[in-house]
Amino acid sequence: MVKETEYYDALGVSPDAGDDEIKKAYRKAALRAHPDKGGDPELFKELTHAYEVLSDGNKRSLYDQMGKAGLEGGGGMGGGMDPQDLFSQLFGGGGGFFGGGGGRPSGPRKGKDLVHRISVSLEDLYKGKVQKLALSKSVICKTCEGRGGKKGAVQTCGACRGQGVRVTLRQLGPMMQQIQQPCNECEGTGEVMNPKDRCKTCTGKKTISERKVLEVHIDKGMRSGQQIKFAGESDQQPGIIPGDVVIVLEEKEHPRFKRKGDDLLCEAEVDLLTALGGGEFAIEHLDERVLHVVIVPGEVIKPGAVKVISRQGMPSYRHHEPGDLYVHINVKFPDHMDPSAIPMLEQALPARKPMAKFDKKLHIEETTLEEPNDRQRKSTFGGVTGDEMDEDEEDGRPAGVQCAQQ
Ligand SMILES: [Zn+2]
Ligand SMILES: [Zn+2]
Repeated sequence: MVKETEYYDALGVSPDAGDDEIKKAYRKAALRAHPDKGGDPELFKELTHAYEVLSDGNKRSLYDQMGKAGLEGGGGMGGGMDPQDLFSQLFGGGGGFFGGGGGRPSGPRKGKDLVHRISVSLEDLYKGKVQKLALSKSVICKTCEGRGGKKGAVQTCGACRGQGVRVTLRQLGPMMQQIQQPCNECEGTGEVMNPKDRCKTCTGKKTISERKVLEVHIDKGMRSGQQIKFAGESDQQPGIIPGDVVIVLEEKEHPRFKRKGDDLLCEAEVDLLTALGGGEFAIEHLDERVLHVVIVPGEVIKPGAVKVISRQGMPSYRHHEPGDLYVHINVKFPDHMDPSAIPMLEQALPARKPMAKFDKKLHIEETTLEEPNDRQRKSTFGGVTGDEMDEDEEDGRPAGVQCAQQ
């Protein structure tokens, strides 16, 4: 039993008309009353407003219980729609919601995307890889073709008009409180059927869970945060366009290399003799190669020097144009020197810098260098020792990253 029938009367339908019937009635009446066709704009507006209420399950339920007062008191009207827009939406005429941004989509709804993060090693990003990813997803039940039961057995729930929810109004002092509850007749599904007609494969759920293996093509040079999309591979549901499966790459930290764009940085340690007199060292690369590096005698490597090996960085994405490999060289000093060898050093190295001259008025005091003790080591200055590399964020040199040494 409905409270008012004005909106039903406006469209010329009975209060128990189904959604399709209401839609058809509105189309017919609106076409006749459309202002572009010489119809009365006021009548057109009224028709559209009636349709707006009756085509929305929640609003219709409020209207049936309370009449127009229910729509105003219970809220949820949200300003209403422009009649022209609603008309265009139904008839596909230009403007309004159609083709434009914003507003409601006119076609079937698109389901949620499934975002999946995968952790990828720098080696895989360097060489490229196809990674298999197994996921379980809902697919439309083939037995019942997504109906949930035998053909014709599934019916729209009369209690909630297929909405799955029922809106009731409760008087709360001078206020009307609107309460939305799942429909108990259909358990919120909006549909009812005889249990014996229920599909046995999906037990009436319309979808079944299926295991699916996706082949994720990780291309050379891809970066952290980059997405690989599998269109329409997300969960299926009747009447909904399945969303995409979106794979987001996450680069794993590497023990030896740091990456900055297409460039790589690694640390190498050479002994003092190699740094001064030449020699060699090796860097194990991200593929199955080892870079053999020769330091030519006479070329002096200073502690902390940064050198470049061109085109040994990461391949760029798509073009696979290699970046550069930066090598931060740490020079390992010996702990002690045999005093008898010092004359040879004196012969080879530039002469010692003489001590600075001071004004004769100043008093010169004799001191010695000691190792800092435990307490001194913990002080601001004591922790800085010569053979430790400082971590310097500003030039991006990481601490503790070492190229393989041979
Ligand atoms: Zn089924
Ligand atoms: Zn229901």
